[in-house]
Amino acid sequence: MKRGDNGPQVKTLQYKLRKVLNRSLSIDGDYGPSTEKAVRLFQDLYSLTVDGHAGSKTQAKLDAVYKAMFKQNSELLHFGKRRFVVFVDAGHGGIDEKGKYVTPGKRAYHKDERMHERGHYYEGFENRLIAEGFIEACTAAGIMCVRTYHPYKDTSLSDRTELIRSWLRRGYYGYLHSFHSNAISSSNSAAKLDATRGYMVFNTRGNNFSDKIANQHFRHVKETVGDAWKYRTQTSSDGDVDFEVNFQILRETDLQEFYWFGAILDEWGFHTSKTDTKFIIEPENRIKRIQACLKTARWVKKGLDEVINP
Ligand SMILES: [Zn+2]
Repeated sequence: MKRGDNGPQVKTLQYKLRKVLNRSLSIDGDYGPSTEKAVRLFQDLYSLTVDGHAGSKTQAKLDAVYKAMFKQNSELLHFGKRRFVVFVDAGHGGIDEKGKYVTPGKRAYHKDERMHERGHYYEGFENRLIAEGFIEACTAAGIMCVRTYHPYKDTSLSDRTELIRSWLRRGYYGYLHSFHSNAISSSNSAAKLDATRGYMVFNTRGNNFSDKIANQHFRHVKETVGDAWKYRTQTSSDGDVDFEVNFQILRETDLQEFYWFGAILDEWGFHTSKTDTKFIIEPENRIKRIQACLKTARWVKKGLDEVINP
C-alpha cells in the first residue's frame, strides 16, 4: 500500500498505526499525507527503510507490534463490568482565581443589563455553570460523568480528547456533550446583533451515532425549554435538525476507533443577542436546559446499555 491507495485494507492499516503510535489518525480508508506521515514515523521508530510505503516488511512489523501490544491484552484493558459515562465539556476558559475572565474574545457587553458582571456575558463562565449543573443532575440520577474541562483555564483539545480516549480504551462507553453559546461579529448593527438568536445543536458530518443523539437532543430541548425560545435548524444538508460542521472538538472527539461513541455540541443561543443572553442567564431556564440534557443522557445510556451491557 502506498499514497493514493484506498479501501478497507487502508483502514486496517490506519487503525493499527493509530493504536501503535498512540496518536490521532483519521480512519477514512484513504492513504493520504497523514497516513504516509504515520507510516514514516513507524518506519523510523522500528528501524525500517523510511519511504512512507506500507510494503510487506512494514506491514509485518506493524502486525507484530500491534499483536504484542493489544491483541493478547485487549481483555485486560477493561476490568469488571463495563460502564456508561458522559464526558462533559465546556467551551473556553472561565474566571480565574483573581476574578479575571480568561477568554477575552468570548464575551459580550450588553449596556444597562446586569448579566454576569456589570453588563458582561462571559461565554466560558456560563458554559461552565450549565455543565456543572448537568454533572450534578446526572450524578443524582446515577449517571457517571467525567469533566473534560478545567475549572477556568482553556485547556488544549488534544488534552481533552486524550482524556476521553483513555477512558474509552479501558472499556467505558458513552458520549461527549459540549456546552457553548454562539456569536456573530460585533460589527453588525445593534438591531441585527439582538435579532440573531436561537438554539442550535451541532454534530459531525454524516449519518452516524452522533447524528442520532443530536436529533433526539434537539427534541428534548424543544419539549423541555418550550416555545418561549427560538430554535435554529439546518434542513439543507440531510433533512434533520442538527448542524453538521467541522468543529475541531467534534471532529477530534467523534472517535472513529470507538464506533458507538458520539459527540454533540450545544450552542445555547447567541451571546451577541441581548434577548438570548437574558434568557440564557435566567436560572429557571438554565434548570430547564439541564433537564433537557439529562433526558438525552438517559436516552443515550438506555440505548447503549442495551447493546453493550445487556
Ligand atoms: Zn464557544
